[in-house]
Amino acid sequence: MSTKDYLEKDYYKALGVAKTAKPAEIKTAYRKLARKYHPDSNQGDTKAEERFKEISEAYSVLSDEKRRKEYDEARSLFGGGFRVPTGSRPGGGGFNFDLGDILGGAGDAGGGLGDLFGTVFNRGNRTTAQNRPRRGADVETDTTLSFSDAIDGTTVGLRLTGEGPCPTCHGTGAKAGTVPRVCPVCNGTGQSSRNLGSFGISEPCKECRGRGLVVDDPCPACSGSGRAMSSRTIQTRIPAGVADGQRIKIPGKGAPGERGGPAGDLYVRVHVKPHPVFGRSGDNLTVTVPVSFAELALGAEVKVPAHRGAPVTVRIPPGTPNGRTFRVPGKGVRRKDGTTGGLLVTVDVTVPKDLNGKARSAIEDLREATAGTDPREELLERAKEQL
Ligand SMILES: [Zn+2]
Ligand SMILES: [Zn+2]
Repeated sequence: MSTKDYLEKDYYKALGVAKTAKPAEIKTAYRKLARKYHPDSNQGDTKAEERFKEISEAYSVLSDEKRRKEYDEARSLFGGGFRVPTGSRPGGGGFNFDLGDILGGAGDAGGGLGDLFGTVFNRGNRTTAQNRPRRGADVETDTTLSFSDAIDGTTVGLRLTGEGPCPTCHGTGAKAGTVPRVCPVCNGTGQSSRNLGSFGISEPCKECRGRGLVVDDPCPACSGSGRAMSSRTIQTRIPAGVADGQRIKIPGKGAPGERGGPAGDLYVRVHVKPHPVFGRSGDNLTVTVPVSFAELALGAEVKVPAHRGAPVTVRIPPGTPNGRTFRVPGKGVRRKDGTTGGLLVTVDVTVPKDLNGKARSAIEDLREATAGTDPREELLERAKEQL
């Protein structure tokens, strides 16, 4: 069951012992290394975990008299450190001899080695992909800001939930006081292979679900998976001037990478609560200001609220139409370059519901005084022209 790796792996080197080492020496070397690289004392260190698997695998072969003999024979037969030439592909020509025949004639190697070559080929293709460092996933989250915080910028605590090592077993998946062992089906590779003619296809090992380690006594907290959902809170600076619906990228704050790969990025989607008085139009703030008919007709200076600081005065010239917008510079949203947008002030005539006697007669006088001019005259003329 472990013959497939015999040609690629030097188990003596893995344990740091001589090829002639006595069983007791092998045992001592293994114990020393296993203690050093045990996942419990190297939590989160994927290199240590790989090394631990390697040591355990080597020991499982060299501590078993029969398997050690098998291993020694396989290596003396084909030479240690045998590697499949790079660039050779199953069925791609170049390797046309039938390995099954050669191995079948090898006598004492038996049927086990027929299997060996199929998987050696296969390993050449997949080991790199399997062990390559992988970048962590990008993570997206949401945050809701007050209108003012969005304009001024703020720091928010973002709670991120994701899968990480189980805190109870430190990711080993084993119950406290027990150790996971190298999966005997895949020898810790996490991959299993099926042979199709002289080459094989690989898939995640069913026994260990691709992890390479099996747990006899599972950790009760994670049921042996070694993974748990956890949440962390990170403080993030939200720059001044963000708008509702904007997505901010925070590099390197996403999910952690695997096998030494870089972390992913964090994307924060910003939601901004509406303000009771002000609105936003790009870098400008907007405000609608009630005015009287007299103020528009005769002109006036009106006090307008500003988002920060004292109200500002806007001068309305005589004869200003309703709905006109005035721009007050410097009272808007701060831009990245340090400049600031404006405050857009739109005037909106209010019609009084209750008029006292004096005001009523004044307006009646106005109606009389302007009776000769029809405000709809121009509209009616224009409509006629279109006919
Ligand atoms: Zn656990
Ligand atoms: Zn396995």
